[in-house]
Amino acid sequence: MSAANQFEIAIAGGALVGAALARALAADRHSTRVALISQERPATQPTAAGFDAGVNAGFDARVYAISPANAAFLAQLGAWSAIPEARRTPVHAMRVYGDDGASLIEFDAYRTGCSELAWIVEDRWLRDALWCGLENQKGLSLFSDATLQALEMSGARAGLTLKDGRTLSAQLVVGADGARSLVRAQAGIAVEARGYGQSAVVANFACERPHRNVAFQWFQGANKSGAVLALLPLPGDHVSMVWSTEDAEAARLLALAPTALAQEVALASHASMGALTLVTPARAFPLQQLTAGRLVAPRVALAGDAAHVIHPLAGQGANLGLQDVRVLAQVLGRREPGRDPGDLRLLHRYARARAEDILAMRYTVHGLFRLFEARGTSIARLRNAGLNFAERMPVLKNLLMRHAMG
Ligand SMILES: Cc1cc2nc3c(=O)[nH]c(=O)nc-3n(C[C@H](O)[C@H](O)[C@H](O)COP(=O)(O)OP(=O)(O)OC[C@H]3O[C@@H](n4cnc5c(N)ncnc54)[C@H](O)[C@@H]3O)c2cc1C
Repeated sequence: MSAANQFEIAIAGGALVGAALARALAADRHSTRVALISQERPATQPTAAGFDAGVNAGFDARVYAISPANAAFLAQLGAWSAIPEARRTPVHAMRVYGDDGASLIEFDAYRTGCSELAWIVEDRWLRDALWCGLENQKGLSLFSDATLQALEMSGARAGLTLKDGRTLSAQLVVGADGARSLVRAQAGIAVEARGYGQSAVVANFACERPHRNVAFQWFQGANKSGAVLALLPLPGDHVSMVWSTEDAEAARLLALAPTALAQEVALASHASMGALTLVTPARAFPLQQLTAGRLVAPRVALAGDAAHVIHPLAGQGANLGLQDVRVLAQVLGRREPGRDPGDLRLLHRYARARAEDILAMRYTVHGLFRLFEARGTSIARLRNAGLNFAERMPVLKNLLMRHAMG
């Protein structure tokens, strides 16, 4: 194999997590030869579209609630400013309703001295921002429109074969290749996965009344099999919906005519933003919980959905993945000069540093899902009383909020 195809680090997957890691490694003075293998090829030049052009071009139905800590990390990577300011919508307050129609917990950024609880950013803008300028990044080789097909471990290097027949080798392979990670499978890392029997229906709406930068969430309870409806603020008087509901119900919602869907969502959201008008066609994503048995193996590290997939009810999956990136880049950047980046003892530093955060988020999100899905009047009373209790405990509320903000 020619020296040109030998790398210190190869990243498989060029979505949020893989692209963020490629950027983060630019600051790693030891990793001078990095490869990014991506099935996609987002724009690598800044998008000139301003606010009006952007809105006219339409909204992306996939959005992320990005925590302030990750917004700061993206800024450090030079990606935050590449998202047009008007396409980053700050969330100033959040209202979460229980399934009895009365319980409520409300989080307010100003009351706790922060300027925002999160930022809502559309997938397309975030991906473009992460790819912006990557082709000129020193030490980075882009393999775009490329699929990793096989991975072979042999002593000091891992051999990678792409679908188009090209081969390369690397001392460390990072699996940022999503829930169905090939890297994870070929490294022999076991996985625990179970479906929720739910799909998340996403769509965007224009709303009659302003959202005032408030994010809303309604737990719909056991009668609706633990469905959760969220409306997140978008630029102008628009909201993005994530309605996690039973698969059959999701299929029914997808089949509705635009006006019928808008009416159902307005009804389920208690007309909080008045009448709604659908502006992007609805799509559905099947939901699952997935946990890799290990985050690292010899010459392999996993990050993002390749390592953990959680229910979107807390909007934390991508946030967890970006924190994986921050910590992995830090561990690699701080390694001793000449140290092999694929050394398992080094990679264990990354695994140890991420273990608690990943476990805590998994249990919190899964626990919330189970609590609001459970049948029985006493459990229903308990969960709604819990919301009201937390609402009246400023210290507890502050703790919850600070954790979600990263
Ligand atoms: C409805 C919904 C709403 C969500 N909302 C939020 C939110 O508000 N906030 C939040 O933090 N998270 C949210 N999430 C979670 C978030 O979407 C994911 O955690 C995040 O997108 C994972 O990013 P990733 O880069 O790890 O994986 P992916 O986005 O799955 O990307 C994996 C990439 O790897 C590529 N790939 C796969 N196999 C190969 C291969 N063999 N060779 C090369 N490339 C390969 C794929 O093409 C893809 O580009 C939500 C999820 C859902 C379903």
